[in-house]
Amino acid sequence: MKYAIVLPDGAADEPVVELEGRTPLQAAKKPTMDWIATHGRQGCVTTVPRGFAPGSDVATLSLLGYDPRINYSGRAPLEAAARGITAQSDELIFRCNFVTIVDGVMTDFTAGHISQAEADRLISDLNRALAGRGCRFFSGVSYRNLMVAANASGMDLQSTPPHDIPDRPVAQHWPRGRGSERIRTVMEEARILLAEHEVNLVRRDLGENPATDIWLWGQGRAKKLESFTSRFGVRAAAIAAVDLIRGIAKTVGMDVLEAAGATGYLDTNYAAKGAAATAALSSYDLVVVHIEAPDEAGHLGDAAAKVKAIERIDECIVGPLLETLRRSGEWRILISPDHPTPVARRIHTDAPPPFCMAGHRVHGVVAEPFSEAAAAASDLQIDSGHELMEYFLRS
Ligand SMILES: [Zn+2]
Repeated sequence: MKYAIVLPDGAADEPVVELEGRTPLQAAKKPTMDWIATHGRQGCVTTVPRGFAPGSDVATLSLLGYDPRINYSGRAPLEAAARGITAQSDELIFRCNFVTIVDGVMTDFTAGHISQAEADRLISDLNRALAGRGCRFFSGVSYRNLMVAANASGMDLQSTPPHDIPDRPVAQHWPRGRGSERIRTVMEEARILLAEHEVNLVRRDLGENPATDIWLWGQGRAKKLESFTSRFGVRAAAIAAVDLIRGIAKTVGMDVLEAAGATGYLDTNYAAKGAAATAALSSYDLVVVHIEAPDEAGHLGDAAAKVKAIERIDECIVGPLLETLRRSGEWRILISPDHPTPVARRIHTDAPPPFCMAGHRVHGVVAEPFSEAAAAASDLQIDSGHELMEYFLRS
């Protein structure tokens, strides 16, 4: 049996006024996803257990079959795994965003999607300036970087994801809790370094958002998880551009494959991802493809971009995968957004997202195109998200 799983990040949504009351999923032309929903099943899955913040870290762990209540240790350790960064048990790993804060307001949690070269340069200067504070900074992708704090066994912090406070005051959202003073000091010293940095002077000249601040969040300690192969008995590979998903895949022992031109943004090379995924089906039992673009469109509040991203995923990834699967023997396919990122809200919500699946012995009951409403009306509702994988592989 061959399995394909497509994770269109943040693709679930709510009715949008500019789409005449349809959701982006309803407005998008997505013949293959609709074929899957009408020839198979759709339903909703609770990917974020009560008490957890709705994020791709928690939601994707659920979708891959791991109960976040047992297996989640923070977002940053998962991203660190993607980069091969190891930390001591008394170290705390943070996500370190470059952000733009103007007059105390989080105006851009991506610092204008700062270029890799600029981000790399800022990271190396932060390392020079703040090594004495017991901090090690690591480059990631664009604004998404990491920081490891040494001697942090006594730290017990709460922090706020910067994408949860777009255009809102940051004052109440600085890291808080035991040991937070040291982290706030690091953020303050970074701000001083960044204020006059040449990278920012150039960005301001060009009218781009400067990286005024680092924002530390998503902290946690490294944790080992049971491998996907030992849990489910299939050999799996993952294709993803963003560190978080690559890190989750590596943490559960999946092979992480490369796709040329995958960016983790709206300009990603969808066709390259589709080609890499279909090729992987010849050597693996299961392939997971994650696409960040719909989530980014949601954060931008751009309904048209979200519709476009869903259409490209359908055309360039889901289509070729289904075609390849249908030429192989027994197969199943699953399309499952991790969480909604409604364009009207521009943040994640914890509403259970829709999924659809088709293939060997998956029999449809109601033939409806894939949408949030059709999935919600289905009798297939999975309350513990980590049980969806079991259902997909074994039912
Ligand atoms: Zn997001």
